[in-house]
Amino acid sequence: MADKRDYYEVLGVDRNATDADIKKAYRAIAKKNHPDMNPGDKDAEARFKEASEAYAVLSDAEKRRKYDQFGHSAFEGGGPGGFSGGFDFSDVGDIFGDIFGDLFGGRSRSRNANEPRRGQNVHASVRITFEEACFGTEKELDVTLKDSCSTCHGTGAKPGTTPETCSKCGGKGQVVYTQNSLFGQVRNVQACPDCRGSGKIIREKCTACRGSGYVSNRKTIQVTIPAGIDNGQSIRIRDKGEPGVNGGGRGDLLVEVMVSRHPIFQRQDRDIYSTVPISFARAALGGEMRIPTIDGDVAYDVKAGTQTDTRVRLKGKGVPSLRNKDIRGDHFVTLVVEVPTRLNNEQKDLLRKFDESLNGGSSTGDSTEKPGKKNKGKGLFR
Ligand SMILES: [Zn+2]
Ligand SMILES: [Zn+2]
Repeated sequence: MADKRDYYEVLGVDRNATDADIKKAYRAIAKKNHPDMNPGDKDAEARFKEASEAYAVLSDAEKRRKYDQFGHSAFEGGGPGGFSGGFDFSDVGDIFGDIFGDLFGGRSRSRNANEPRRGQNVHASVRITFEEACFGTEKELDVTLKDSCSTCHGTGAKPGTTPETCSKCGGKGQVVYTQNSLFGQVRNVQACPDCRGSGKIIREKCTACRGSGYVSNRKTIQVTIPAGIDNGQSIRIRDKGEPGVNGGGRGDLLVEVMVSRHPIFQRQDRDIYSTVPISFARAALGGEMRIPTIDGDVAYDVKAGTQTDTRVRLKGKGVPSLRNKDIRGDHFVTLVVEVPTRLNNEQKDLLRKFDESLNGGSSTGDSTEKPGKKNKGKGLFR
């Protein structure tokens, strides 16, 4: 894919633009380049689509925040599961309803009730553990899915009868009201109240589906969750949404993934952070220790004289990339030196002797230093 232009650049607004600025900028571009206004003009269509995508993101506070933080990669997809990072172009229609509603007098939304329409997307969520998010997993998800009623084959009419064309709207599913206002006549398009937009009236309803044309079935769906998925990202499962109308395809199932917190690991993108306590003696003397990672414990050689809050980088022990699980982030470990709190008398004596040895061996142990003798600043009880 070619490099995508920055969304702010596409709309010609700066990064601090208000929602109103963004809407205004988008309206201007959309009005000029709308396909209805420029039939057959591919460049205009491309500009319209580009601006629409930019608007879809920047007009949504959550998506805008993600975009500001991660750029286009916040919404990049890929992988066999049809992974979607949250940007769903098929939802764009809803976002623009308010803009095009007044821009084109509802014309862009008017449609023939008999034309094929894709089914709605269905949303679901699944909770997984921190480790499952790192390495990927399979989950079974119970969802209620609508299917075409087998008794009436989706018409909603009792077998042997057929739905009639609605006389109020002539089968269009919409009615147009003309209102007089200060600004002249305003055309308002609304779903037909008699047939509720379907264009058809069912006199005798199918008893199996009560005239809806659908039956709901509980289904178990296998969800493949790719390694590297992060909390709040969604997986798109094609054609597992609601059935379409008039022969249109099914919508998709969008499964939001919620990742549980881990007791010791924290994640930031592909990197993992944790804190590991080490004893004062080990910090001073150095030596091998075990550090927990998502791959299990790894051996780490602590350098002699390690100070508290030393950060250690375990390269390639982070979370795999969603796009390529062989590429992994790093694991950063903060070593915290623990000061012993409960000491017996023998240990206290040993520590005092130790401290004396640092101070040249002339002190008696507590803070009775002779005036004039400089503490070199090495003492443990400084
Ligand atoms: Zn039926
Ligand atoms: Zn009607």
